[in-house]
Amino acid sequence: MKKYILTLDEGTTSARAIIFDRFGNTVSVAQHEFRQLYPLASYVEHDPQEIFTKQYTAMTEAVLKTDIDPLEIAAIGITNQRETTVVWNKNTGEPVYNAIVWQCRRTTEFCEKLIADGYSDYISDTTGLKIDAYFSGTKINWILNNVEGAKAAAKNGELLFGTIDTWLLWKLSGGKIHATDYTNASRTMLFDIHKLEFDKKLLDILDIPESMLPEVKPSAHFFGEIQFMGANIPVCSIAGDQQSALFGQGCFMEGDTKNTYGTGCFLLMNTGNSAFKSQNGLITTLACTADNESPQYALEGSVFVGGAVIQWLRDELKIIKTAIESERLANKTSSNGGVYIVPAFSGLGAPYWDMRARGTICGLTRGSGRPELARAALEAIAYQSEDLLSSMRADTKIPLKTLKADGGAAANNFLMQFQSDVSNITVSCPKSLEATALGAAFLAGLTVGFWQDKSELLSLISADRSFSPKISGAEREKQLLGWHKAVNAAKAFNSELGGGD
Ligand code: ADP
Repeated sequence: MKKYILTLDEGTTSARAIIFDRFGNTVSVAQHEFRQLYPLASYVEHDPQEIFTKQYTAMTEAVLKTDIDPLEIAAIGITNQRETTVVWNKNTGEPVYNAIVWQCRRTTEFCEKLIADGYSDYISDTTGLKIDAYFSGTKINWILNNVEGAKAAAKNGELLFGTIDTWLLWKLSGGKIHATDYTNASRTMLFDIHKLEFDKKLLDILDIPESMLPEVKPSAHFFGEIQFMGANIPVCSIAGDQQSALFGQGCFMEGDTKNTYGTGCFLLMNTGNSAFKSQNGLITTLACTADNESPQYALEGSVFVGGAVIQWLRDELKIIKTAIESERLANKTSSNGGVYIVPAFSGLGAPYWDMRARGTICGLTRGSGRPELARAALEAIAYQSEDLLSSMRADTKIPLKTLKADGGAAANNFLMQFQSDVSNITVSCPKSLEATALGAAFLAGLTVGFWQDKSELLSLISADRSFSPKISGAEREKQLLGWHKAVNAAKAFNSELGGGD
């Protein structure tokens, strides 16, 4: 009798393994951090072998911590940090270089050249993405051009490329399976999200041989069996972390939207079978589907400085000792007292896209103190998320009913209520904030019939806290006006016009 699903949740800083039961409850968790390598300023790397070892150890420990027999595991699901790029030799199994992490900016110049050469429209029409160093394509190109012998070996068919899901699956299957899913492929800047295949013209432009690329399948799919602790277990899902969270939050229908409030915030709206092209700098990406389902799309936007502004209050301003204290402090005052913080520490993202803007605090008076600053910092997380939501509303004309929230900062009730007020939307937080891992478990469970359908999955997600708007339309407009004036101030303080960096 199969009783469990095992999810591998491979993030940017740690590899986790989580075992879920039939009710979607977490039965066991094991986690191992791995090293962040910074060989040069703006370069970020991971050691792929270390990631695999840490992931394998976490899987083994998650089982050993309980009395679960591996034969009771119905399926494995994989969810992972997206875009991070590994290139390895298929004969030796050795990576030819470290994994180049999504945060790494080393290919910025190459991206600027692609923009100058006029590829922006082609790339956004084909892949749904803005040309950026963030995505895998230019990272593969960098490895092939900078590692001795790599280009010739790639042309000879000896090298394979994978995002971390693909690398883990290849390793777990003893080099037998070289595959990924649509959600990860849609972050490579090489994948045609309409035709669901790698685009030959982009492979030519980036000089990447097709033989390096993995097979691409829907997220809920039988990828193959692996041997683990004496059992043969099928790997039945792969999904990039944000799309997995969208699924784990039960956002199955057009218009369903989730926001993950972590260090940054990731907002995704399910747009059903329509791939909307954003007029506001959002990204169009593939969402999770099963075999025989037509493709589903999502609009995605991110807030660069989300929970990080609370870390800044704690570590730099030292006005709080713990993140949770921000809520108590914010509740000490009934308004922000006219104070707005725009945490544009490294510029402003969507919908402003102003990389020269810098952080600003506006509206200070002699009476402004710690409570007003704490409140303004939490409000800034919500205002930035509202800017993305209003872009999504404008791009899709789809009405937004509920925002499903997860991530560490979603524990903050002040923030959740303020988001509801400022966005005029119901905000709902599930009991388990493990939406990312749960999404991959749901997808794997559907594939093997562990769970029957999406309505059964919805019955497993229990809402814990829910927040409804409590302010008037006039009050909301006044607050948003204040925020947008503060954003204009941050933009006016152009770091390249002196006084900046
Ligand atoms: P990540 O996955 O990006 O590491 P997490 O989901 O673990 O992030 O959330 C951590 C972030 O959330 C930190 O930036 C922290 O400052 C913020 N955070 C955690 N708890 C709270 C809280 N109660 N109130 C506000 N922010 C919080």
